Amino acid sequence: MAYITINKQNFYYNLKQIALKVGSVDKIAIVLKDNAYGHGLELMAELASEFGIKHAIVRNDSEAEKIYSLFETILVLDGKCKKLQKYHYAINSIEQIDSIPQGTKVELKIDTGMRRSGIEMEQLEEALQKIENQGLELVGLMTHFRSADALSSELFWQMKQFDAVKKRLKVLGIDGFRVHSCNSSATLRQKIMQEDIVRVGISAYGYNELPYPFDLIKLKPVLSLYAQKISARVLKAGESLGYGAVFTAPKEMQVSSYDLGYGDGWCRGNAKEPFITSDGFKILGRVSMDMISLESTLESVCIMNDAQETAKYFGTISYEVITALSSDIKRQVI
Ligand SMILES: *Cc1c(COP(=O)(O)O)cnc(C)c1O
Repeated sequence: MAYITINKQNFYYNLKQIALKVGSVDKIAIVLKDNAYGHGLELMAELASEFGIKHAIVRNDSEAEKIYSLFETILVLDGKCKKLQKYHYAINSIEQIDSIPQGTKVELKIDTGMRRSGIEMEQLEEALQKIENQGLELVGLMTHFRSADALSSELFWQMKQFDAVKKRLKVLGIDGFRVHSCNSSATLRQKIMQEDIVRVGISAYGYNELPYPFDLIKLKPVLSLYAQKISARVLKAGESLGYGAVFTAPKEMQVSSYDLGYGDGWCRGNAKEPFITSDGFKILGRVSMDMISLESTLESVCIMNDAQETAKYFGTISYEVITALSSDIKRQVI
């Protein structure tokens, strides 16, 4: 079976860099949504908790259920709360407030410019009233930046918008909740972290997605993907291999098939521009659902150990490469 290794040392190295940046481990909320960005939810939650991280962020209730005992707080981003739970729920719209069970801990998300989710800034007072009427406990105030990873002043404009909301709450005399806005890129750009927590995902997994002109903190990829040999054969010069016969051997070659394909979440890509594995083998011909072919006789081959590099090849971002990896692939900590 194809398998994934999780490098604990690298994960802890990244978390340490982030802790140094924000001033303390207590300020880190690790984002574990989407199977911990493909790394394995329970496994990464355990490692993060062992490191001393107290706060986690997930996509939905079913993710929260799997790791509930490991953290002091878990924030559920989709905000869908069916019954009273101990988690925090993000409020993504004003209408949503009416359906949240009494006594639920909520974090109010403000739309400061991304125009995707959260209440409008003008709805602040109305939302607070609704939260009170519904008997909810306001434990957080949050926003999300649309261009934290862009070399522009956009981030500062949105921060100003969020500051205005914070001021209004202060004037209203409402406090006792945590405040947060920074994802990885915003965190890595900040000189001093004044908010209570940062919501870091991609940087913890080892990727700095800021463009070159920024002061780049070196991070270390945590995940490596391996495939194992299924069968081997000799291709004679002129013989073609795989679907569509798009690869033809220029000379006699020893090739093997390996157990990874687009069914596992590996990108099919374009066979005319072959991907080169981290071990230096070209993928020959088309990627099949469950197989690739390489000019190799090794039992096991490292396909990728740096999703940012892989993403460049496939014309996407590191996030997509890692989250796409099937949860059926076995993960092991090294
Ligand atoms: C996914 C997500 C994050 C984490 O973003 P990274 O760029 O991976 O650090 C933070 N906040 C919210 C609301 C998110 O949805």
